[in-house]
Amino acid sequence: MGGTFDPIHHGHLVAASEAAHLLGLDEVLFVPTGQPYRKDASEVTDAEHRYLMTVIATASNPSFTVSRVDVDREGPTYTLDTLRDLREERPDDEIFFITGADALAQILSWKGVSQLWDLAHFVGVTRPGHVLTDAGLPEDKVTLLEVPAMAISSTGCRERTAQGEPVWYLVPDGVVQYIGKYDLYRKDP
Ligand code: ATP
Ligand code: MG
Repeated sequence: MGGTFDPIHHGHLVAASEAAHLLGLDEVLFVPTGQPYRKDASEVTDAEHRYLMTVIATASNPSFTVSRVDVDREGPTYTLDTLRDLREERPDDEIFFITGADALAQILSWKGVSQLWDLAHFVGVTRPGHVLTDAGLPEDKVTLLEVPAMAISSTGCRERTAQGEPVWYLVPDGVVQYIGKYDLYRKDP
């Protein structure tokens, strides 16, 4: 499951858990992006913080793990590179790339889209406010899943923190504490 995870929240974790359950996956590998190509570098928290929050959030689940492939690669993150690196690391695994409905809708604009289909099976999960649509996506390469709707976004968590509002129970406890420890998302720490 790829994402910016700035910060990781319970919407991500529920989506991953539900996709694993419905598809019978052995493991969910969370892959925090390096520099997301669609976002300005100054708008995104340091990759090491996002990586560590993802580790903290997934630590208690034996089938959740975290990959550094994107945070360790120079330059903007493209899913094509992510999948190529993972394929190389795990030549015998069947790979499913889990994304939200909003990200899946953009899939056709991704770099090297035609090469993506050979590297993984794509899974789009429902997200409140986004319509799950399969327009134009190859049927045998994409699965759309209904997961319990969690109206949580990283943007919302960042805004709440900036305004001094709590994010308890929107993100895992350890992530709340990590955000406080490093004064993340506070305009004027
Ligand atoms: P931001 O608000 O900064 O864009 P985000 O909450 O969308 O952050 P991302 O890291 O961009 O989080 O999300 C990674 C993936 O998880 C995306 O494909 C996104 O659609 C999906 N996702 C995020 N929040 C939810 C949610 N509440 N339910 C289901 N999927 C979600
Ligand atoms: Mg997003």
